[in-house]
Amino acid sequence: MRTLELRDPGRVSMYVCGPTVYDVPHIGHGRFALAFDVLRRYLVFSGLEVDYVSNVTDIDDKIIARANLESRPASEVAAQFEATWWDAVDALGVERPTHTPHATSYVDRMVAMVGKIVALGVAYETSDGVYLSVDQVEGYGLLARQSLDSLRSGERVEPGEEKRSPLDFVLWKKAKPGEPTWPSPWGPGRPGWHTECVVMSLDLLGDGFDLHGGGIDLAFPHHENERAQSVALGREFARHWVHNGHVKVGDEKMSKSLGNFTSLTDLLTSTDGRAYRLLLLRSNYRSPVEVTPETIADAEEALARLDSFARRFHLDTRLGSMTFEMAQASGADPGALGAFVERMDDDLDTPAALGAIFDLVRRANALADGGEDAGALTLAKTVGVLCGAMGLALVSEGEEVDEGAAALVDERDAARARGDWARADAIRDELQAAGWVVEDAAQGTRLHR
Ligand SMILES: [Zn+2]
Repeated sequence: MRTLELRDPGRVSMYVCGPTVYDVPHIGHGRFALAFDVLRRYLVFSGLEVDYVSNVTDIDDKIIARANLESRPASEVAAQFEATWWDAVDALGVERPTHTPHATSYVDRMVAMVGKIVALGVAYETSDGVYLSVDQVEGYGLLARQSLDSLRSGERVEPGEEKRSPLDFVLWKKAKPGEPTWPSPWGPGRPGWHTECVVMSLDLLGDGFDLHGGGIDLAFPHHENERAQSVALGREFARHWVHNGHVKVGDEKMSKSLGNFTSLTDLLTSTDGRAYRLLLLRSNYRSPVEVTPETIADAEEALARLDSFARRFHLDTRLGSMTFEMAQASGADPGALGAFVERMDDDLDTPAALGAIFDLVRRANALADGGEDAGALTLAKTVGVLCGAMGLALVSEGEEVDEGAAALVDERDAARARGDWARADAIRDELQAAGWVVEDAAQGTRLHR
């Protein structure tokens, strides 16, 4: 772990590799979107300004393949699945990035950058494109924490390839028939994926920006190759790297290529996006997370507990947009606030932070049950603030217990007090038939939908 030392005091510049829009997103994409949303929100909670750039790869082999298969333009495929992507992101409660640059809007700047690398003698042209020569980049393999030799051992130049070294990677792809193209000094073609993020991040955030993120599967070769281009240009790239862990379905790593594709869009039709957020918050962002019907059901149940708590204390959902300073001034519990910050500052220890929130829920309920309303309310408000700081908006409305139900609750509690269990059960059945979930708490009957 390293301390986040900012380039500009008070301001965080962060870049996260976004989706390639050729299909509906899978739950692994949801994870990176949520992981960096939690980080961004926590930085804002800490009083920092955040400049958040995340790109949309709207030209790529897979987009072209789908477009050709379906006999329609690549741009149409990209537009369709970009819309699907934002729908999913919105349903997850992820705040949109400050900038969402598209690859196709940056081709001119990518051509210019590739030209500079060629002029510096670090890239070379072949019959099918322009490649970067990794042997000429000092420290190649640093991100992968592996030497050039060990990286090279598993790779080879395929017959027919003109690469000088197996790890050399493409900066510019010369056009093949049936592909959208842009002009360049090397003839018509399109940029390589690794080039996109370097140009956009440096363009929008400047040299030596603070933080570069993405899924762990991008660390090598994608991020290594981004960094290599920046090194070749003599420009300072990201000062810190953050990678989120895999999503596992059963035991397999979540990946389309493994054939266990699980659609995020499907998940969000059956599950509240907040439950997926809560499920992920239960693990450190670096750890693999298992997404199964059981872990989802578990998260849904925990979310229902938080919502029911929010209703009990009529929590204001605006509590979620506070900073630490505002929370302090609003009368949230100072001890709980301090403990939250300590956990989150420790490499975003969300499992511990979440555990502490559920502790507060128990303590607030116990205080309220004992008639200590003021103390309970302070803790409840703190729960609202801390959930909000992690992007977990609680639902506090829509379940007012009507007069009829309230009368039945009183009657049932009276029946229980005199030991008339048959009557108590009958009233419970009546309430359940009316759509209420009936809980027997120490202080009497509790209802929620
Ligand atoms: Zn990238």
